[in-house]
Amino acid sequence: MNLHRTPITVPDAIEKVMHINIHKEKENISLSDTHGRVLAEDLLATHPVPPFPKSPYDGFALRSADTVNLSREDPGEFHVIETVPAGHRASRPIKEGEAIRIMTGAEIPRGADCVAMFEICGTHHKEGKDYMTLKRPMTSGQNVIEEGSETEEGVVLVSAGTLINPGVKALLATFGYNSVAVFRKPKIGVFATGTELLDVHEELAPGKIRNSNAPMIVSQIERAGGEPLYFGKLDDNFDLCYQAFTDALEDVDFLITTGGVSVGDYDLMPDIYEKLGADVLFNKVGMRPGSVTTVASFNGKLLFGLSGNPSACYVGFELFTYPVIQSFLGRTRPFHKRIEAVLGHDFEKANPFTRFVRGFVDFTGGKVHVYPTGIDKSAVVTSLASTNVLIILRGGTKGYEKGDSVEAILLDESQGQETFEIMEGSG
Ligand code: AMP
Ligand code: MG
Repeated sequence: MNLHRTPITVPDAIEKVMHINIHKEKENISLSDTHGRVLAEDLLATHPVPPFPKSPYDGFALRSADTVNLSREDPGEFHVIETVPAGHRASRPIKEGEAIRIMTGAEIPRGADCVAMFEICGTHHKEGKDYMTLKRPMTSGQNVIEEGSETEEGVVLVSAGTLINPGVKALLATFGYNSVAVFRKPKIGVFATGTELLDVHEELAPGKIRNSNAPMIVSQIERAGGEPLYFGKLDDNFDLCYQAFTDALEDVDFLITTGGVSVGDYDLMPDIYEKLGADVLFNKVGMRPGSVTTVASFNGKLLFGLSGNPSACYVGFELFTYPVIQSFLGRTRPFHKRIEAVLGHDFEKANPFTRFVRGFVDFTGGKVHVYPTGIDKSAVVTSLASTNVLIILRGGTKGYEKGDSVEAILLDESQGQETFEIMEGSG
């Protein structure tokens, strides 16, 4: 085995990974399943909105021509010929001197060109008939939402590649997209390797630890929008691992393994890649943690060999696997959001390589602070629970001090705010 590996920078490693040609595939799914998926086709207005002229208020529809000279001193009286609730249509056009009681969302009756809100109208009953009185003139089109005034038919409202959020879903529903073309989710196989690993239900035994990477990675895949396929844990046995990976590769788009990518006696992944004939894109990255992170391509599929060390494994996934998943899903902006923040604690260690410190972001009061979440060691698992950012400390820098400006990669925006405030001076 070749112990000498040439490290590449994180941006170069990401470029290599993203350079792989990803075959996005479309699939049609039911509208109710589309949240968080990406449109594979443009969303077209299949009809004008609104599809008919409608009333924004409860009121009386009438002819503005009949109201020209109306005033407080000289009000007009209109015969109310019927009531039209939303969802119904007037039985006949209105004529001079007539009005129709109309509810919000109802179609403007033919012949009418304006709506007088109930609030400005009087009503009375005379000889078995209903009347409405109005003391002011109305203009043509007043209180009418014209057909197509929001959008005309045929307009592309949302383009392919857009993430489906609640607003996009409202549009899909508006235009009758019962079945929606989205990009298929990547199927991502997961293996944990290591003879020391126990399953979650097993009791601790001498020299053994529970496999925490697999459940973590499965959850990271889910958070990223991929479809995890967990294949189990494997002992560090070459033939066993080789066979299991070869079989799994038949069924997945990408394969993630954890452990065994280092240079120890039982680190089998390098030899497995070799026997597979996989093209190793890189096997050493100038970063902490996760310098041994390895990515190889095989038959158009990517194999992510993540470190067994939990923090390194976590970081390796977010840096290299996450954007590939986003590309596969059709997102045009595949990378995590980056923010500029104020470092909340000193970070004394020097950074010979770019460091991705597991951190926590706090937005209280509109200020963005990031805090390292615990022991900054690749073998650590306990710092991950409160991690929602990776704080980037550039390579070649000495320690950082509280108050320094840093960049951070936003992983998870589920953290809320304690209070609702509108800041003084905003707007
Ligand atoms: P390796 O990358 O195989 O050299 O493993 C590095 C360290 O991570 C070792 O201390 C392993 O015991 C630990 N480790 C490996 N796999 C896992 C796992 N699935 N869950 C938790 N720790 C692991
Ligand atoms: Mg191992």
